[in-house]
Amino acid sequence: MLYINGTWRTSGEKLDVINPATGEVIESIVTGGAEETEEAIAQATEAFKMWKNTTGVKRSNYLATVVKLMRSRSKELAETITSENGKPLADAEREVISAIDYLEWYAEEAKRLYGDTLPASHPDKHLMVLRQPVGVCAAITPWNFPLSMITRKIAPALAAGCTVVLKPASLTPLSAIKVFECFHEAGLPAGVVNLVIGPAAEIGKVMTASPDVRKITFTGSTRIGKKLMRDAADTVKKVSMELGGHAPFIIFEDADLEEAVTGVLMTKFKNAGQTCISTNRVYVAESIAEEFGALLATKTAELTIGNGMDDGVDVGPLINAGALEKVAAQVEDATENGGKIIAGGKVHSFSGGDGYFYEPTVIQYANEEMQIATEETFGPVAPIFTFQTEEEVIEKANHQEYGLAAYCYTKDLGRGLRMMRELEYGIVGINDLAPIVIQAPFGGIKESGIGKEGGKYGLEEYLEEKFVSIHMK
Ligand code: ADP
Repeated sequence: MLYINGTWRTSGEKLDVINPATGEVIESIVTGGAEETEEAIAQATEAFKMWKNTTGVKRSNYLATVVKLMRSRSKELAETITSENGKPLADAEREVISAIDYLEWYAEEAKRLYGDTLPASHPDKHLMVLRQPVGVCAAITPWNFPLSMITRKIAPALAAGCTVVLKPASLTPLSAIKVFECFHEAGLPAGVVNLVIGPAAEIGKVMTASPDVRKITFTGSTRIGKKLMRDAADTVKKVSMELGGHAPFIIFEDADLEEAVTGVLMTKFKNAGQTCISTNRVYVAESIAEEFGALLATKTAELTIGNGMDDGVDVGPLINAGALEKVAAQVEDATENGGKIIAGGKVHSFSGGDGYFYEPTVIQYANEEMQIATEETFGPVAPIFTFQTEEEVIEKANHQEYGLAAYCYTKDLGRGLRMMRELEYGIVGINDLAPIVIQAPFGGIKESGIGKEGGKYGLEEYLEEKFVSIHMK
């Protein structure tokens, strides 16, 4: 299904959407390619002329209506997420809440876009800074949060006065279709939001090449993000990139061990480790490493693997066969390099169907030689490294390439503050396993990205400053 200029397209090539817990086709949907993307951009360009001059209050009201509609369909939205992404239903329900929160936050912000008046350096001059919408935005979103990554981009874009063409991940397009049903029902003017589902490279090429598209906002892999940035350079577009991560989780000897174990369980095994802020390396002070490893292994073994639709499931499937192979290869490489598996370690054979399950896994005696020490895992594997001093762990935890999220557990305030300063990451959680809130800037440094999403920071990404100097003579 495509949604262009306020109309659903129901004919075209079909794409099968697979349930990763069972391997079954959930639905076959209509797709489009370059031609449809061009059309969507043209319509978004036309609609921008009207939308940018719609009042903030009116834009706010539209978004508030979408909030209401999504709330009334929360259950259906959560089930859609679980069916196409695999995550446990309770986690999908949380994602729906967060997706709606973004819409609500930016519905409020739409009314509060202020400019500035600057002190002039000449008595006859009047200086102003206007903040105006960037223009048509192309948004490309991933499959790991098939709903909230969409609203986290579209809500601030619409609040700012931009129009949007969205390409969701081909693995999880059903959540996107549902959001667009809500946009449609809310009566958003035709062309303000458009949805194109289809071959990523083909659609991406049209989006980056078009001079009418003034911004690309992307969440996905560093590799594709770099490509989009390169391609967007020809027309000097604004870009926001939320890319890969390789989060360290550091545990000092004075940390509360139980809490640290919970922290690793939550940051590593939620979404089966398929989030960009998932813990990728656990660093434990050498003196407590054995004790910590044993505790973590015990708790990990207690996690329930299964179809996210079933009650009591903690860990769902990986997204597809490729993801499963990558995780299995990293575990094999880790064991070849001296790692010892103390929980999990295998593909999980599951009676429920042909799903892509991997056991939540803990590997002790991890070292720098292993692929997992530097490559993003995107799966449920926790390697435990050890360290002796604060300086040593800072040096090791800072990654050459990635800089998205880092976690640190200690009861020493001074140490916590030093870690906060020294960790080269866009997001740092000190004794906090969930350093993400709507009002805070979410985003990475280094090759983890450019730009922020969330709060007032997320809105800035869709605005340009225009300086106006008026000589009053
Ligand atoms: P992952 O490896 O996690 O699937 P990707 O970066 O491949 O991450 O995918 C994230 C999003 O980028 C998806 O919507 C995907 O379809 C899209 N994508 C993949 N390749 C391209 C491309 N060449 N141009 C534009 N978008 C792309």
